[in-house]
Amino acid sequence: MTTLKTVLDVIPRGFCKGVFKAIELAKKARQEHPDLPITILGELVHNQSVIDGLAQLGITSLDSKGKTRLELLETISEGLVIITAHGVSPQVMVQARARGLMTMDATCEDVYSTQQLMQSYLDNGYEILYIGQPGHPEPEAALGLSPSRITLIDPTQPLPQIYAQKLFVTNQTTMSTLDIAAILDAIKQRYPQAIISDETCSATRMRQEAILKLPALVDAVIIVGDKRSNNTAMLAKIARNRGIKTVIAIQRLTELNLEELDGVETVAVSAGASTPRFLIDEVTSYLKAVAAGRNVDKEDFYLPLSV
Ligand code: SF4
Repeated sequence: MTTLKTVLDVIPRGFCKGVFKAIELAKKARQEHPDLPITILGELVHNQSVIDGLAQLGITSLDSKGKTRLELLETISEGLVIITAHGVSPQVMVQARARGLMTMDATCEDVYSTQQLMQSYLDNGYEILYIGQPGHPEPEAALGLSPSRITLIDPTQPLPQIYAQKLFVTNQTTMSTLDIAAILDAIKQRYPQAIISDETCSATRMRQEAILKLPALVDAVIIVGDKRSNNTAMLAKIARNRGIKTVIAIQRLTELNLEELDGVETVAVSAGASTPRFLIDEVTSYLKAVAAGRNVDKEDFYLPLSV
């Protein structure tokens, strides 16, 4: 017998403007070039349903754990290459042109503006500390601006020793706002000469703030999103840091186990910026039916793949 009474929709949640734009661009590429091989360099967004939906349009997502965008590019011999919302280093664009490949760039404008800012400080002789997740494509692109003058700061590791007088500090757009605030404080103490620009994007910030502002009566949070999505992982982390007792991360309704909500009366549902609407809708529709006391099967709430 469920104890669930209320299901709150956390707003905003799900696709951000950068993801919308990237998916629309990929669909447009297919419409304009119906016969061309189209390859996405990496995953357009970190969500398997989006990747599967694009595959149905004949668009290949080329990714391999541990391989850089430059290494992936070497395996593409023809057609059109789509750059993901995470951006790429300048070397990737140079190589794509040199190999005679057409490109379409879905780099998010927020990622692009951070890269432009970094480039302006590099041009003025600064060293850069960049806070980001090692192995994630966005830091890979940012570090590619000048590998010898940009140091990646892994939030889980101690700060490195840097001797530069001209120091600029910035970050990946999708980090936890709480982590970034703590690291930036530590950097200010260690490097008082540093110029700092927190580049966490507004979509990430708003989704995280919505979790932080949840009413005290919420005793569980469900985050819908792919395990590889950084902004999805950060939402779960923020909910745990906020002290919410039960935090459940699932990729879609199939993974939801109602027993994990035993004793829970109010659950809030959020989703990462790379999670498509249909995956969120199937979770909320099911939970609302359960909260209303209806005797329902999960299978009745599964929705067809759509991007
Ligand atoms: S999460 Fe932010 S930076 Fe990333 S695509 Fe969305 S809006 Fe752009």
